[in-house]
Amino acid sequence: MRREGLLDLNEAVQHPGKKLVFKVETELGQEEDLDLVEPLRGELSAVSTGNLLLVKTTLRTRAVLECARCAAPVETDLEFTMEDEFDVEGVPSSFASDSYAEVVTDEPVPIFVQNALILDAYVRQGLLLNLPEQPLCSGGWDGVCQESVDTGHRGGEAVHPAFEGLSRLIDREAP
Ligand SMILES: [Zn+2]
Repeated sequence: MRREGLLDLNEAVQHPGKKLVFKVETELGQEEDLDLVEPLRGELSAVSTGNLLLVKTTLRTRAVLECARCAAPVETDLEFTMEDEFDVEGVPSSFASDSYAEVVTDEPVPIFVQNALILDAYVRQGLLLNLPEQPLCSGGWDGVCQESVDTGHRGGEAVHPAFEGLSRLIDREAP
């Protein structure tokens, strides 16, 4: 069963040792801070030990980030792996016919509805954790940024981002 945005992992939760593998794809429709050029695509697997549900996900996408130095858009390939354990309470139904095991989480943002994973909520957490901290449009910290190429008056000069904003202000006020 695969309802919109939900990945039903109940079969794994009720059958410890049984591994489920899914192909997943999502565009993270409601993401404001991130501009994804391509949907996130990859594979998710889930297996329960009885007390823990182990979820492993590998995803790829291409996103537009902001250069840490000049704020120019930088298109970057992203690939990351998430591995998480979720507590399971109760006796799996494969052990006793009148029982039921359920994933329990204390996440501030819910990522499970009963035993179905809310794919976007889960993937968003992983994506945000795995973004490069200081994407650069070109050349690294000592190279030439897109902005200095465009305006032509700071070519090749390495400017700390704190001063970059300041010098932009000064540029603007110059006659
Ligand atoms: Zn730059």
